[in-house]
Amino acid sequence: MRNPLRAAIRPNFQHPAMKSYHLTTFGCQMNEHDSERMKGMLESLGYREVAARDEADLILFNTCSIRESADNRFVAHLGEAKRLKGEDPARIVGVGGCWSQSMKERVFERFPFVDVAFGPGQIPKLAEFLTSDSLTAQGYFEFEGFSGHLPMKRAREFQGWVQISVGCNCNCAYCIVPSTRGREASRPPGELMIEIEGLAADGVREVTLLGQNVNSYGRDLPPEEKTTFAHLLAMVDAVEGIDRIRYTSPHPKDMREDVVRAHAELDALCEHIHLPLQSGSTPILKAMRRTYDRERYLDRVALIREHVPDCALTTDIIVGFPGESEEDFRLTLDVCEQVGYDGAFTFVFSPRRGTEAALITEGLVPHEVKIERMQRLVEVVQRRAHERAQRFVGRTLEVLVEGTSRTDPSRLRGRTRHNKAVNFTGLGQPGELVMVEIDRASSQTLSGSESLLARAGAA
Ligand code: SF4
Repeated sequence: MRNPLRAAIRPNFQHPAMKSYHLTTFGCQMNEHDSERMKGMLESLGYREVAARDEADLILFNTCSIRESADNRFVAHLGEAKRLKGEDPARIVGVGGCWSQSMKERVFERFPFVDVAFGPGQIPKLAEFLTSDSLTAQGYFEFEGFSGHLPMKRAREFQGWVQISVGCNCNCAYCIVPSTRGREASRPPGELMIEIEGLAADGVREVTLLGQNVNSYGRDLPPEEKTTFAHLLAMVDAVEGIDRIRYTSPHPKDMREDVVRAHAELDALCEHIHLPLQSGSTPILKAMRRTYDRERYLDRVALIREHVPDCALTTDIIVGFPGESEEDFRLTLDVCEQVGYDGAFTFVFSPRRGTEAALITEGLVPHEVKIERMQRLVEVVQRRAHERAQRFVGRTLEVLVEGTSRTDPSRLRGRTRHNKAVNFTGLGQPGELVMVEIDRASSQTLSGSESLLARAGAA
Protein backbone atom coordinates (compact mmCIF):
# COMPACT_ATOMS: atom_id res chain seq x y z
CA MET A 1 0.00 0.00 0.00
CA ARG A 2 1.57 3.31 -1.04
CA ASN A 3 1.96 5.76 1.85
CA PRO A 4 0.12 8.96 0.85
CA LEU A 5 2.53 11.16 2.84
CA ARG A 6 5.56 9.51 1.28
CA ALA A 7 3.88 9.76 -2.12
CA ALA A 8 3.87 13.51 -1.48
CA ILE A 9 7.53 13.50 -0.40
CA ARG A 10 8.72 10.83 -2.83
CA PRO A 11 6.20 10.84 -5.69
CA ASN A 12 7.40 7.63 -7.31
CA PHE A 13 7.95 5.62 -4.11
CA GLN A 14 7.51 1.91 -4.84
CA HIS A 15 7.75 -1.24 -2.71
CA PRO A 16 11.42 -2.26 -2.17
CA ALA A 17 10.91 -5.45 -4.18
CA MET A 18 11.15 -3.35 -7.31
CA LYS A 19 14.02 -1.29 -6.11
CA SER A 20 17.64 -1.44 -7.16
CA TYR A 21 20.78 -0.56 -5.25
CA HIS A 22 24.39 0.24 -6.02
CA LEU A 23 27.04 -0.11 -3.29
CA THR A 24 30.59 1.25 -3.42
CA THR A 25 33.03 -0.12 -0.84
CA PHE A 26 36.18 1.62 0.36
CA GLY A 27 38.87 0.38 2.74
CA CYS A 28 39.70 -2.86 4.53
CA GLN A 29 38.54 -6.48 4.57
CA MET A 30 36.19 -5.67 7.45
CA ASN A 31 34.41 -3.20 5.14
CA GLU A 32 34.30 -5.80 2.36
CA HIS A 33 32.68 -8.13 4.87
CA ASP A 34 30.22 -5.46 6.02
CA SER A 35 29.30 -4.72 2.40
CA GLU A 36 28.58 -8.39 1.75
CA ARG A 37 26.25 -8.24 4.76
CA MET A 38 24.61 -5.02 3.55
CA LYS A 39 23.95 -6.67 0.16
CA GLY A 40 22.56 -9.79 1.81
CA MET A 41 20.26 -7.67 3.99
CA LEU A 42 19.04 -5.51 1.07
CA GLU A 43 18.36 -8.55 -1.12
CA SER A 44 16.42 -10.16 1.74
CA LEU A 45 14.27 -7.00 1.56
CA GLY A 46 13.77 -7.58 -2.16
CA TYR A 47 16.31 -5.08 -3.51
CA ARG A 48 18.44 -6.08 -6.51
CA GLU A 49 22.02 -5.00 -7.19
CA VAL A 50 22.82 -2.95 -10.31
CA ALA A 51 26.27 -2.38 -11.83
CA ALA A 52 25.92 1.33 -12.54
CA ARG A 53 25.22 4.02 -9.95
CA ASP A 54 22.92 5.96 -12.32
CA GLU A 55 20.64 2.91 -12.59
CA ALA A 56 20.13 2.69 -8.84
CA ASP A 57 17.20 3.83 -6.71
CA LEU A 58 19.38 3.43 -3.63
CA ILE A 59 22.96 4.75 -3.85
CA LEU A 60 25.13 3.46 -1.01
CA PHE A 61 28.70 3.96 0.14
CA ASN A 62 30.57 1.91 2.73
CA THR A 63 33.34 4.28 3.71
CA CYS A 64 36.85 4.13 5.17
CA SER A 65 38.47 6.80 7.31
CA ILE A 66 41.95 5.41 7.93
CA ARG A 67 43.63 8.29 6.07
CA GLU A 68 42.73 11.79 4.92
CA SER A 69 43.22 10.64 1.30
CA ALA A 70 40.48 8.01 1.76
CA ASP A 71 38.06 10.78 2.78
CA ASN A 72 38.91 12.91 -0.24
CA ARG A 73 38.49 10.00 -2.63
CA PHE A 74 35.08 9.19 -1.17
CA VAL A 75 33.84 12.79 -1.23
CA ALA A 76 34.55 12.87 -4.97
CA HIS A 77 32.20 9.88 -5.43
CA LEU A 78 29.59 11.58 -3.23
CA GLY A 79 29.55 14.45 -5.73
CA GLU A 80 28.14 12.13 -8.39
CA ALA A 81 25.45 10.90 -5.97
CA LYS A 82 24.44 14.54 -5.43
CA ARG A 83 24.04 15.05 -9.18
CA LEU A 84 21.98 11.85 -9.55
CA LYS A 85 19.78 12.82 -6.60
CA GLY A 86 19.27 16.22 -8.25
CA GLU A 87 18.07 14.43 -11.39
CA ASP A 88 15.68 12.18 -9.40
CA PRO A 89 14.80 13.37 -5.84
CA ALA A 90 13.14 10.01 -5.06
CA ARG A 91 16.57 8.38 -5.08
CA ILE A 92 17.94 7.52 -1.65
CA VAL A 93 21.59 8.26 -0.80
CA GLY A 94 23.08 6.38 2.14
CA VAL A 95 26.53 6.54 3.72
CA GLY A 96 27.85 3.83 6.06
CA GLY A 97 31.23 2.85 7.49
CA CYS A 98 34.02 4.57 9.40
CA TRP A 99 33.94 7.99 7.73
CA SER A 100 30.21 8.24 8.48
CA GLN A 101 30.86 7.20 12.10
CA SER A 102 33.67 9.75 12.45
CA MET A 103 31.46 12.56 11.10
CA LYS A 104 28.13 11.58 12.72
CA GLU A 105 25.43 14.28 12.31
CA ARG A 106 27.92 16.53 10.50
CA VAL A 107 27.33 14.30 7.44
CA PHE A 108 23.97 16.03 6.96
CA GLU A 109 25.37 19.51 7.64
CA ARG A 110 28.07 19.09 4.96
CA PHE A 111 26.00 16.93 2.55
CA PRO A 112 22.30 17.77 3.05
CA PHE A 113 21.28 15.52 0.13
CA VAL A 114 22.28 12.41 2.13
CA ASP A 115 19.16 10.59 3.42
CA VAL A 116 20.65 8.06 5.82
CA ALA A 117 24.01 7.73 7.55
CA PHE A 118 25.11 4.90 9.79
CA GLY A 119 28.21 3.57 11.50
CA PRO A 120 29.79 0.11 11.07
CA GLY A 121 27.84 -1.13 14.11
CA GLN A 122 24.50 0.04 12.76
CA ILE A 123 23.97 -1.69 9.39
CA PRO A 124 20.56 -3.13 10.38
CA LYS A 125 19.33 0.46 10.85
CA LEU A 126 19.56 0.94 7.11
CA ALA A 127 16.83 -1.69 6.68
CA GLU A 128 14.78 0.04 9.37
CA PHE A 129 15.11 3.36 7.56
CA LEU A 130 14.25 1.90 4.16
CA THR A 131 11.12 0.20 5.42
CA SER A 132 10.05 3.03 7.72
CA ASP A 133 7.91 6.05 7.00
CA SER A 134 10.73 8.38 7.94
CA LEU A 135 10.24 11.77 6.37
CA THR A 136 13.61 13.19 7.36
CA ALA A 137 17.22 12.14 7.04
CA GLN A 138 18.33 9.75 9.77
CA GLY A 139 21.70 9.06 11.39
CA TYR A 140 22.58 5.97 13.44
CA PHE A 141 25.92 5.97 15.21
CA GLU A 142 25.71 3.82 18.39
CA PHE A 143 27.98 0.74 18.51
CA GLU A 144 25.27 -1.82 18.77
CA GLY A 145 26.02 -5.07 17.16
CA PHE A 146 27.84 -7.44 14.89
CA SER A 147 27.00 -7.19 11.22
CA GLY A 148 27.90 -10.88 11.28
CA HIS A 149 24.28 -11.65 12.22
CA LEU A 150 22.96 -10.37 8.89
CA PRO A 151 22.36 -12.42 5.71
CA MET A 152 25.36 -12.35 3.39
CA LYS A 153 25.94 -12.01 -0.34
CA ARG A 154 29.48 -13.35 -0.89
CA ALA A 155 31.70 -12.08 -3.69
CA ARG A 156 33.08 -15.59 -4.17
CA GLU A 157 31.09 -18.72 -3.38
CA PHE A 158 34.10 -20.68 -2.11
CA GLN A 159 35.58 -17.98 0.16
CA GLY A 160 33.95 -16.37 3.17
CA TRP A 161 34.72 -13.59 5.60
CA VAL A 162 33.80 -14.33 9.22
CA GLN A 163 33.68 -11.42 11.65
CA ILE A 164 34.84 -12.81 15.00
CA SER A 165 35.13 -9.52 16.85
CA VAL A 166 34.60 -5.80 16.45
CA GLY A 167 36.39 -2.77 17.80
CA CYS A 168 39.82 -2.29 19.32
CA ASN A 169 41.03 -1.57 22.88
CA CYS A 170 44.40 -0.23 21.72
CA ASN A 171 45.19 3.47 21.32
CA CYS A 172 47.72 3.66 18.52
CA ALA A 173 48.42 7.37 18.20
CA TYR A 174 47.78 7.51 14.42
CA CYS A 175 44.65 5.37 14.28
CA ILE A 176 40.99 6.40 14.09
CA VAL A 177 39.57 2.86 14.39
CA PRO A 178 38.89 2.79 18.15
CA SER A 179 36.74 5.89 17.77
CA THR A 180 34.92 4.61 14.68
CA ARG A 181 34.52 0.95 15.64
CA GLY A 182 34.40 1.13 19.48
CA ARG A 183 35.71 -1.23 22.15
CA GLU A 184 36.63 -4.85 21.45
CA ALA A 185 33.75 -7.29 21.58
CA SER A 186 34.08 -10.98 20.69
CA ARG A 187 31.28 -12.97 19.06
CA PRO A 188 30.26 -16.05 21.09
CA PRO A 189 32.17 -19.14 19.84
CA GLY A 190 29.00 -21.22 19.55
CA GLU A 191 27.46 -18.66 17.20
CA LEU A 192 30.66 -18.55 15.13
CA MET A 193 30.77 -22.31 14.76
CA ILE A 194 27.16 -22.40 13.54
CA GLU A 195 28.03 -19.75 10.96
CA ILE A 196 31.21 -21.51 9.82
CA GLU A 197 29.51 -24.92 9.58
CA GLY A 198 26.84 -23.19 7.51
CA LEU A 199 29.45 -21.70 5.21
CA ALA A 200 31.12 -25.10 4.77
CA ALA A 201 27.77 -26.69 3.95
CA ASP A 202 27.31 -23.88 1.43
CA GLY A 203 30.54 -24.77 -0.39
CA VAL A 204 32.99 -22.37 1.27
CA ARG A 205 36.46 -23.92 1.43
CA GLU A 206 38.45 -20.94 2.73
CA VAL A 207 37.40 -18.74 5.63
CA THR A 208 39.12 -15.52 6.73
CA LEU A 209 38.52 -14.62 10.37
CA LEU A 210 38.18 -10.86 10.76
CA GLY A 211 38.80 -8.49 13.68
CA GLN A 212 40.59 -5.19 14.18
CA ASN A 213 42.73 -7.08 16.70
CA VAL A 214 41.86 -10.61 15.73
CA ASN A 215 44.30 -12.45 18.05
CA SER A 216 42.95 -10.81 21.20
CA TYR A 217 39.73 -12.69 20.53
CA GLY A 218 37.89 -14.06 23.54
CA ARG A 219 39.31 -11.79 26.26
CA ASP A 220 35.90 -10.23 26.91
CA LEU A 221 33.86 -13.45 26.76
CA PRO A 222 32.04 -14.55 29.94
CA PRO A 223 33.76 -17.37 31.96
CA GLU A 224 31.35 -20.05 30.74
CA GLU A 225 32.26 -19.25 27.10
CA LYS A 226 35.93 -18.48 27.61
CA THR A 227 37.76 -19.33 24.35
CA THR A 228 41.22 -18.23 23.30
CA PHE A 229 42.06 -17.36 19.70
CA ALA A 230 44.22 -20.51 19.38
CA HIS A 231 41.31 -22.58 20.67
CA LEU A 232 38.94 -20.96 18.18
CA LEU A 233 41.38 -21.76 15.35
CA ALA A 234 41.36 -25.43 16.40
CA MET A 235 37.54 -25.44 16.47
CA VAL A 236 37.39 -24.02 12.92
CA ASP A 237 40.06 -26.48 11.76
CA ALA A 238 37.78 -29.33 12.83
CA VAL A 239 34.92 -28.20 10.58
CA GLU A 240 34.46 -30.65 7.69
CA GLY A 241 34.88 -28.91 4.33
CA ILE A 242 37.00 -25.98 5.54
CA ASP A 243 40.35 -26.56 3.79
CA ARG A 244 41.93 -23.19 4.53
CA ILE A 245 41.82 -20.76 7.45
CA ARG A 246 43.24 -17.23 7.29
CA TYR A 247 42.86 -14.31 9.71
CA THR A 248 43.45 -10.54 9.79
CA SER A 249 44.56 -8.32 11.42
CA PRO A 250 46.64 -9.58 14.37
CA HIS A 251 48.67 -7.45 16.79
CA PRO A 252 52.28 -8.44 17.70
CA LYS A 253 51.52 -7.94 21.42
CA ASP A 254 48.93 -10.77 21.22
CA MET A 255 50.91 -13.13 18.97
CA ARG A 256 51.17 -15.81 21.65
CA GLU A 257 53.03 -19.12 21.36
CA ASP A 258 49.77 -21.14 21.22
CA VAL A 259 48.73 -19.20 18.08
CA VAL A 260 52.12 -19.74 16.43
CA ARG A 261 52.06 -23.47 17.29
CA ALA A 262 48.58 -23.68 15.78
CA HIS A 263 50.13 -22.76 12.42
CA ALA A 264 52.42 -25.78 12.74
CA GLU A 265 49.75 -28.19 14.03
CA LEU A 266 46.41 -27.36 12.35
CA ASP A 267 45.99 -28.72 8.79
CA ALA A 268 43.72 -25.96 7.49
CA LEU A 269 45.53 -23.01 9.10
CA CYS A 270 47.58 -21.44 6.31
CA GLU A 271 51.33 -20.76 6.49
CA HIS A 272 50.96 -17.00 6.36
CA ILE A 273 50.99 -14.47 9.18
CA HIS A 274 50.44 -10.75 8.72
CA LEU A 275 52.40 -9.11 11.55
CA PRO A 276 52.22 -5.28 11.42
CA LEU A 277 55.59 -3.73 12.41
CA GLN A 278 54.85 -0.03 11.71
CA SER A 279 58.40 0.96 12.78
CA GLY A 280 61.70 -0.79 13.61
CA SER A 281 62.63 1.83 16.18
CA THR A 282 61.58 1.33 19.81
CA PRO A 283 61.31 5.09 20.59
CA ILE A 284 59.01 5.54 17.55
CA LEU A 285 56.95 2.47 18.49
CA LYS A 286 56.56 4.07 21.92
CA ALA A 287 55.46 7.37 20.37
CA MET A 288 52.97 5.43 18.23
CA ARG A 289 51.68 3.69 21.41
CA ARG A 290 52.16 0.28 19.78
CA THR A 291 52.77 -1.45 23.20
CA TYR A 292 55.65 -3.60 21.94
CA ASP A 293 59.28 -2.78 21.23
CA ARG A 294 61.73 -3.83 18.52
CA GLU A 295 63.04 -6.78 20.60
CA ARG A 296 59.56 -8.14 21.34
CA TYR A 297 58.66 -7.91 17.66
CA LEU A 298 61.81 -9.73 16.50
CA ASP A 299 61.25 -12.30 19.24
CA ARG A 300 57.80 -13.05 17.76
CA VAL A 301 59.36 -13.42 14.31
CA ALA A 302 61.95 -15.83 15.72
CA LEU A 303 59.18 -17.86 17.37
CA ILE A 304 57.32 -18.09 14.05
CA ARG A 305 60.48 -19.09 12.19
CA GLU A 306 61.19 -21.75 14.84
CA HIS A 307 57.77 -23.42 14.64
CA VAL A 308 56.86 -22.71 10.97
CA PRO A 309 60.14 -22.12 9.08
CA ASP A 310 58.37 -21.81 5.70
CA CYS A 311 55.70 -19.41 6.97
CA ALA A 312 55.14 -16.33 4.80
CA LEU A 313 55.37 -13.08 6.77
CA THR A 314 53.84 -9.83 5.63
CA THR A 315 53.56 -6.52 7.43
CA ASP A 316 52.44 -2.87 7.60
CA ILE A 317 55.00 -0.05 7.90
CA ILE A 318 54.49 3.70 8.42
CA VAL A 319 57.25 6.04 7.19
CA GLY A 320 57.75 9.54 8.53
CA PHE A 321 55.91 9.37 11.87
CA PRO A 322 56.61 12.63 13.78
CA GLY A 323 60.01 12.48 15.45
CA GLU A 324 61.38 9.77 13.12
CA SER A 325 65.09 10.47 12.67
CA GLU A 326 67.36 9.02 9.97
CA GLU A 327 68.60 6.57 12.64
CA ASP A 328 65.01 5.50 13.52
CA PHE A 329 64.32 4.92 9.84
CA ARG A 330 67.57 2.96 9.43
CA LEU A 331 66.31 0.66 12.23
CA THR A 332 63.11 0.04 10.23
CA LEU A 333 65.17 -0.87 7.15
CA ASP A 334 67.29 -3.14 9.33
CA VAL A 335 64.23 -5.10 10.55
CA CYS A 336 63.09 -5.49 6.92
CA GLU A 337 66.54 -6.81 5.96
CA GLN A 338 66.57 -9.21 8.92
CA VAL A 339 63.00 -10.54 8.57
CA GLY A 340 62.81 -10.67 4.75
CA TYR A 341 59.08 -10.11 4.42
CA ASP A 342 57.13 -11.86 1.67
CA GLY A 343 55.24 -8.61 1.22
CA ALA A 344 54.46 -5.33 2.94
CA PHE A 345 51.90 -2.53 2.92
CA THR A 346 53.86 0.69 3.23
CA PHE A 347 52.34 4.06 4.12
CA VAL A 348 53.58 7.63 4.35
CA PHE A 349 52.43 9.06 7.69
CA SER A 350 49.59 11.55 7.28
CA PRO A 351 47.92 13.11 10.34
CA ARG A 352 44.37 11.81 10.78
CA ARG A 353 41.81 14.22 12.20
CA GLY A 354 40.63 12.99 15.60
CA THR A 355 43.83 11.08 16.44
CA GLU A 356 46.51 11.90 19.02
CA ALA A 357 49.22 12.02 16.34
CA ALA A 358 47.34 14.77 14.48
CA LEU A 359 48.00 17.08 17.44
CA ILE A 360 51.80 16.60 17.32
CA THR A 361 53.59 19.75 16.12
CA GLU A 362 57.19 18.90 17.09
CA GLY A 363 59.64 16.84 14.96
CA LEU A 364 57.40 16.72 11.88
CA VAL A 365 59.20 14.98 9.00
CA PRO A 366 59.28 17.09 5.80
CA HIS A 367 57.24 15.62 2.94
CA GLU A 368 60.20 15.22 0.58
CA VAL A 369 62.11 13.32 3.30
CA LYS A 370 59.11 10.99 3.78
CA ILE A 371 58.98 10.29 0.03
CA GLU A 372 62.73 9.67 -0.17
CA ARG A 373 62.51 7.24 2.76
CA MET A 374 59.48 5.51 1.22
CA GLN A 375 61.51 4.87 -1.96
CA ARG A 376 64.37 3.33 0.05
CA LEU A 377 61.93 1.22 2.06
CA VAL A 378 60.14 -0.10 -1.04
CA GLU A 379 63.51 -1.00 -2.60
CA VAL A 380 64.50 -3.07 0.47
CA VAL A 381 61.07 -4.71 0.87
CA GLN A 382 60.81 -5.68 -2.82
CA ARG A 383 64.38 -6.99 -3.02
CA ARG A 384 63.98 -9.12 0.10
CA ALA A 385 60.52 -10.32 -1.04
CA HIS A 386 62.02 -11.33 -4.38
CA GLU A 387 64.84 -13.21 -2.62
CA ARG A 388 62.37 -14.93 -0.29
CA ALA A 389 60.04 -15.90 -3.16
CA GLN A 390 62.80 -17.92 -4.86
CA ARG A 391 62.24 -20.64 -2.23
CA PHE A 392 59.07 -21.60 -4.10
CA VAL A 393 60.74 -22.15 -7.51
CA GLY A 394 60.93 -25.84 -8.34
CA ARG A 395 58.28 -26.74 -5.73
CA THR A 396 54.74 -27.99 -6.37
CA LEU A 397 52.30 -25.93 -4.32
CA GLU A 398 48.59 -26.24 -3.53
CA VAL A 399 46.68 -23.36 -5.14
CA LEU A 400 43.05 -22.30 -4.61
CA VAL A 401 41.85 -21.28 -8.09
CA GLU A 402 40.19 -17.85 -7.99
CA GLY A 403 39.58 -17.31 -11.72
CA THR A 404 41.40 -16.22 -14.88
CA SER A 405 44.67 -14.32 -14.68
CA ARG A 406 44.29 -10.54 -14.67
CA THR A 407 47.21 -10.17 -17.07
CA ASP A 408 46.64 -13.13 -19.42
CA PRO A 409 43.10 -14.53 -19.97
CA SER A 410 44.58 -17.81 -21.26
CA ARG A 411 46.02 -18.47 -17.80
CA LEU A 412 44.48 -19.02 -14.41
CA ARG A 413 44.97 -17.14 -11.16
CA GLY A 414 44.91 -18.36 -7.58
CA ARG A 415 46.63 -18.23 -4.18
CA THR A 416 48.96 -20.57 -2.34
CA ARG A 417 48.58 -21.31 1.37
CA HIS A 418 51.36 -18.69 1.83
CA ASN A 419 48.90 -16.15 0.32
CA LYS A 420 51.15 -15.72 -2.75
CA ALA A 421 49.31 -14.93 -5.98
CA VAL A 422 50.03 -17.45 -8.76
CA ASN A 423 49.40 -17.15 -12.49
CA PHE A 424 49.50 -20.54 -14.15
CA THR A 425 48.37 -22.71 -17.06
CA GLY A 426 45.95 -25.47 -16.12
CA LEU A 427 42.48 -26.96 -16.14
CA GLY A 428 41.35 -25.92 -12.66
CA GLN A 429 37.98 -24.27 -11.99
CA PRO A 430 37.32 -21.41 -9.52
CA GLY A 431 37.03 -22.87 -6.02
CA GLU A 432 39.15 -25.93 -6.86
CA LEU A 433 42.38 -26.80 -5.04
CA VAL A 434 45.03 -27.79 -7.61
CA MET A 435 48.76 -28.55 -7.46
CA VAL A 436 50.95 -26.12 -9.42
CA GLU A 437 54.63 -26.57 -10.34
CA ILE A 438 56.29 -23.20 -9.76
CA ASP A 439 58.88 -22.20 -12.37
CA ARG A 440 59.32 -18.47 -11.73
CA ALA A 441 58.92 -16.04 -8.81
CA SER A 442 58.86 -12.26 -8.56
CA SER A 443 58.45 -10.23 -5.37
CA GLN A 444 54.66 -10.11 -5.95
CA THR A 445 53.59 -13.19 -7.88
CA LEU A 446 54.57 -16.75 -8.74
CA SER A 447 54.22 -18.43 -12.11
CA GLY A 448 53.82 -22.06 -13.12
CA SER A 449 51.75 -24.84 -14.61
CA GLU A 450 49.22 -27.14 -13.07
CA SER A 451 50.54 -30.63 -12.32
CA LEU A 452 48.34 -32.79 -14.52
CA LEU A 453 49.88 -35.83 -12.83
CA ALA A 454 48.43 -34.61 -9.54
CA ARG A 455 45.10 -33.94 -11.28
CA ALA A 456 45.10 -37.47 -12.70
CA GLY A 457 45.96 -38.80 -9.23
CA ALA A 458 43.11 -36.79 -7.65
CA ALA A 459 40.59 -38.01 -10.23
S1 SF4 B 1 45.65 -2.02 16.97
FE1 SF4 B 1 46.15 0.12 16.69
S2 SF4 B 1 46.26 0.35 14.45
FE2 SF4 B 1 45.15 -1.54 14.86
S3 SF4 B 1 42.96 -0.96 14.85
FE3 SF4 B 1 43.71 -0.89 16.98
S4 SF4 B 1 44.31 1.23 17.35
FE4 SF4 B 1 44.19 0.91 15.12
